[in-house]
Amino acid sequence: MVTIKSKREIELMREACRVAALAQKEIEKAIKPGISTYELDKIAEDTIRANGGIPAEKGYPSGEKGVPNFPGSICASINDEVIHGIPSKNTILKDGDIISIDLVAFKNGYNGDCARTYIVGNVPESTKRLIEVTKQAFFEGIKFAKEGNRLGDISNAIGTYVEKNGYSVVKEFQGHGIGASMHEDPGIPNYGKPGRGIRLQAGMTLAIEPMVIMGKSNILQLEDGWTIITEDGSLSAHYENTILITKKEPEILTII
Ligand code: MG
Repeated sequence: MVTIKSKREIELMREACRVAALAQKEIEKAIKPGISTYELDKIAEDTIRANGGIPAEKGYPSGEKGVPNFPGSICASINDEVIHGIPSKNTILKDGDIISIDLVAFKNGYNGDCARTYIVGNVPESTKRLIEVTKQAFFEGIKFAKEGNRLGDISNAIGTYVEKNGYSVVKEFQGHGIGASMHEDPGIPNYGKPGRGIRLQAGMTLAIEPMVIMGKSNILQLEDGWTIITEDGSLSAHYENTILITKKEPEILTII
């Protein structure tokens, strides 16, 4: 069910999103060669809790039999890992890596969700371009995120922009509505046809999240039941914000 948030709910969403964005800022400051993804996880958890929130990814059920709940407060996905990388003391960032951090803050009954891909030390221009195109794909998508447009208009804009730049979008995972639950309807694919899908209404809150692969779109899941990697070993980037649909331009709630 797609939920339309009341004025009060929008204020609560705004605050949860602010906390999520704060955690990203603290992580960005800490990213450097030699730090472990466990330490980044701790920074995110401490920041979210210090601001009255709970890291909502911690303990999130996988839905697959025999797979433990997600152990981290962040998803930390390095290089060819696309999403859902598990933070670990043994995973140490190296010069030349890229790392996607996806996190959700839950506060006062509502969720704020955002993801960024960071560079570690020095990376080639081609890698920077992947990250830039992934970020820009989000902004291309939200040009269509206003009341009266259709969901497919956003999806199409993202997918078209990514492919025009020579990259692939992940098909198996998608953005989503968000609110009291981390994942609400509608699902928001990063590809699709304009003019299709539900009609957007003011008061919808959506997590829009291009997941982009430098090579082919095929993905694999590791045996941990969580980590998604690219099949061809090429790099992947992720960029996500929670937005509010209005009658005019969308509001991006997780950029502060
Ligand atoms: Mg997310």
